[in-house]
Amino acid sequence: MASHAALVHYHEIGLKGHNKRAFERRLQENLAFALGWSDARRIRIMANRLVVPLEAQEAAEAIERLAQIPGVAFVAEALVVPRDPGAMEEAAVGVVAAAAAEGARTFAIKARRSATDHPEPSTEINRRVGERVRLATGLCVDLDDPDVTCHVDVVHDQAFVYARKVPGPGGLPAGSAGRVVALLSSGIDSPVAAWRIMRRGAVVVGVHFSGQPYTDASSEESVVEIGRVLERTGGLGRIYVVPFGALQREISLSAPPDLRVLLYRRLMVRVAERVADEERAKALVTGESLGQVASQTLENVAAIDAVARRPVFRPLIGNDKQEIAAEARRIGTFDISTRPQSDCCTLFMPRTPETHARTEEVDAAEAALDVERMVADAIAQMRWVDFLSPVYRAPRAWPSSDDARPRR
Ligand code: ATP
Ligand code: MG
Repeated sequence: MASHAALVHYHEIGLKGHNKRAFERRLQENLAFALGWSDARRIRIMANRLVVPLEAQEAAEAIERLAQIPGVAFVAEALVVPRDPGAMEEAAVGVVAAAAAEGARTFAIKARRSATDHPEPSTEINRRVGERVRLATGLCVDLDDPDVTCHVDVVHDQAFVYARKVPGPGGLPAGSAGRVVALLSSGIDSPVAAWRIMRRGAVVVGVHFSGQPYTDASSEESVVEIGRVLERTGGLGRIYVVPFGALQREISLSAPPDLRVLLYRRLMVRVAERVADEERAKALVTGESLGQVASQTLENVAAIDAVARRPVFRPLIGNDKQEIAAEARRIGTFDISTRPQSDCCTLFMPRTPETHARTEEVDAAEAALDVERMVADAIAQMRWVDFLSPVYRAPRAWPSSDDARPRR
């Protein structure tokens, strides 16, 4: 009798040298967390794949979840049988017959042996199993361009038989690369930037600036909803929400209109830096793409970075808007980001923002502001929302709770 399993394959982890074991363990923990399992050892690490035992009826939903986890190249829904010839053939007949029911007319068998003393060569398995499948299903063999490829992976004393593969995000498991603070608007770009850095193994803590009290809370609601989508990766720890309207007003009252946007952005960076201190994050992340809007010219990017104490990563810097939008659709944040909402971006906007600011000019305008106090105000009014993550621990000063406030 065959049992069911999700076969999780990775790619990049396989390229790691002596660290490979640690990456595999991290992925094992993250996969278990995604399924709500407390015992990660139910997932076995076997010859460059992880084997997640599943009941047949839960398999489809579980595979959907596993395919969102960074580090996963693809997930296959497999039948698991002992490595005896009859059992492999029977499983392969089942897999190919299911594909035939969905319209497949040709097939190929692709056997592979790893970490096994199974004596039969792969080519022989292909021939033997293929012949049996051909007779049982009536489908033709096509080795060049088959409608369905049925894999038979013999590992130790078992065989995994599968055709359907669901692609994952690739990359590295969340928690393998340390923590970053992402400036998360509720727009299209920054959620994609955050997702990209999560896919590289970083744990993301978001900071969102809302226009409150001069706008409603719609951007905050959207950003939390975006968080619920990003949460499925296991790589989002928390989102801080900062009411920013009053501080923007204060800037708009004293600063030259054309420099306002840069001063807003620099204050955002300073607040994000304070959060990063507490969170022990090692970098900031934004969703800027070169030249997309006035604040994203090379000069203005430099003027913004001048107040950062950590590297500022911009994973989308070389991407076109259409590419970013397509990626947002794939990730699942696009519809939330494009809903009508009032965020702080449009508050107290000048008619003609500076596009090529000189950093010294911005420094001079900023000198008229009590920046220290403004950062302290922002931090004092900040709230946060925690997300489910196997790798995030809240900083001691700002613990997890339902109605959270910074504690000094
Ligand atoms: P996005 O689509 O991410 O909102 P954008 O195209 O609107 O970006 P800008 O408004 O110039 O571009 O913002 C550039 C970056 O600054 C954003 O990607 C984000 O990282 C950060 N940012 C802007 N506004 C906010 C905000 N309200 N809260 C947090 N971060 C913000
Ligand atoms: Mg925006």
